[in-house]
Amino acid sequence: MRLAQAKGMTLEEFRRKHTRSAGTVLLFNGTPNHTGKPSCSLYEDGLGCSVHPSRPLACRLFPLGRQIQNGTTQYMHEGSEFPCLKECPEVLDLPKLTVEKYLIGQETSAFEQAQDAYLEMMQNLADVAFELLLDTGLAESGDTQTLASWRRLGTMDAVTLGKQIPAEWLDILVIPDLQVQSEDVLNFVQGHQELLNTKIQELSETLSTLDAVREAAILMMALALFLSHSIGADSKGLSEHWIEIAKSHGAHG
Ligand code: SF4
Repeated sequence: MRLAQAKGMTLEEFRRKHTRSAGTVLLFNGTPNHTGKPSCSLYEDGLGCSVHPSRPLACRLFPLGRQIQNGTTQYMHEGSEFPCLKECPEVLDLPKLTVEKYLIGQETSAFEQAQDAYLEMMQNLADVAFELLLDTGLAESGDTQTLASWRRLGTMDAVTLGKQIPAEWLDILVIPDLQVQSEDVLNFVQGHQELLNTKIQELSETLSTLDAVREAAILMMALALFLSHSIGADSKGLSEHWIEIAKSHGAHG
């Protein structure tokens, strides 16, 4: 939403013109850079990043990466393969900063909060999938199709996965119709979660057979895994992890 607003576009228009992989990745089809690779579609010759104040977290962190494991946040770089040092030697003349000061300078804080909140939303979606499988009689019925589908979804890339998700759900996930100010990060994600909850509640009221419950459990897992692609999580590892948890609670497959 921040990027769309910075370009004066609707979310739908921004998704169509500036993203690929079902809206999860920025499109790189601009003028080739010095390595010959196309630049980001938001890069303008002679100007630079056309959305600089709204640029996403990955751009703010670059060339650092951020990962959360066991509740600990770590920032990494690629050591001697550090791309800036190899391709842009002029950066050697820039002031040397600690990682902490670099992050403050790049104003990453709100964007990191957003990433963490979306990780939580991803887990919430997986929890709904668990409830549908484990608390409705579906697992007790001996069902194996749900976990088989979860496993298959975990191996898909974002484009293939996006095609498994009905457009109305994909749009709620990728281009939510929210009136919240995009600068208000935590309220934005909370509003997004509430929008999803309303839709999930509507769906749950229609589930009158185990087949319908299975379909819903597969859809919820597809949404969780699609979101994992969007925030750069390990989708395959997550799906295997969630399958093992479901099995340890009595699911089959
Ligand atoms: S900083 Fe990010 S959004 Fe801006 S042009 Fe570069 S890759 Fe694109």
